[in-house]
Amino acid sequence: MNRIGFIGLGNMGLPMAVNLKNQGLEVKAYDLSEEAKVKAIQSGIEVKNSIQETSTSIDALITMLPNDSAVEEVYLNSSLLDDLAKTTLIIDSSTISPETSKRVANRASKVGISMLDAPVSGGVKGAEDGTLSFIVGGEDKDLVKASSLFDIMGSNTFHAGDSGSGQIAKLCNNMLLAIHMCGTAETIAMGVKNGLDPEVLSEIMKKSSGGNWSLEKYNPYPGVMKDAPASKNYSGGFLNLLMLKDLSLAQELASLSNSETPMGKLAKELYEELNNQGIGDLDFSSIQKRYMN
Ligand code: NAD
Repeated sequence: MNRIGFIGLGNMGLPMAVNLKNQGLEVKAYDLSEEAKVKAIQSGIEVKNSIQETSTSIDALITMLPNDSAVEEVYLNSSLLDDLAKTTLIIDSSTISPETSKRVANRASKVGISMLDAPVSGGVKGAEDGTLSFIVGGEDKDLVKASSLFDIMGSNTFHAGDSGSGQIAKLCNNMLLAIHMCGTAETIAMGVKNGLDPEVLSEIMKKSSGGNWSLEKYNPYPGVMKDAPASKNYSGGFLNLLMLKDLSLAQELASLSNSETPMGKLAKELYEELNNQGIGDLDFSSIQKRYMN
């Protein structure tokens, strides 16, 4: 796996492609956006003019696209699957619905091409530092082939199950993340309104049975953690609009599988509120703002 085609050079895709290139792999890449192409060239990436040019003579094609429709556009509404060499392994790291992911994998398999769904956790910092977690769905043999790439771009690889399972596990994780972030924010706000110091309260809960990842790594209350987005006006990090996208995909999955998810539904409504207020581009811990009036 030395020759890589990379499509989607946004906040996540560009640093991932750069890490592959810095490890000596041959990377050629493509993005629709002129701005993304310019940034990629400035980062030393060989940028091609089309998906076709990007996907010839490669061992693996990695896609890091924003949503289902972009993934459908690239794989289903083009001749890409017919044009790819049968030996090329497709790795789609976009977060999309498991249904779309399985549809693309089935179509690829009909022309003899293997695909892994490999959404990631770890955010832009994880992409830059090469410490992402890859949550993978697909066949063992393909995961083994791709593992050297996952090891460059990340520090954990999980095999969730068959095709589409990576997306299912990723949506489960992000639904739980949203739920504990919302719970953490409203709890700290209640403590503060009753005279507690947010830092002292956070420390108590972190070490007690309320402890969770949001308290440990990503405190939503401004000033409690110096490096958290909350202490930087909620800039950077994982955007509200992306969390809303994931919660919407999780609700679709819940509905298709007849799963009861009242907490996930409420979390989605809370993130819808933030997006309707025009703060979709703030970090998802800005849910705290809702409780601070
Ligand atoms: P982004 O919007 O910054 O980048 C996506 C890129 O894809 C853009 O540059 C866009 O121009 C390009 N693109 C869109 N359609 C295209 C097409 N048809 N052909 C070629 N290029 C196309 O998004 P991102 O933050 O890099 O996220 C990418 C994926 O990773 C999303 O599915 C997101 O949910 C997931 N993700 C993001 C984060 C995060 O913190 N940003 C964390 C984990 C997972």
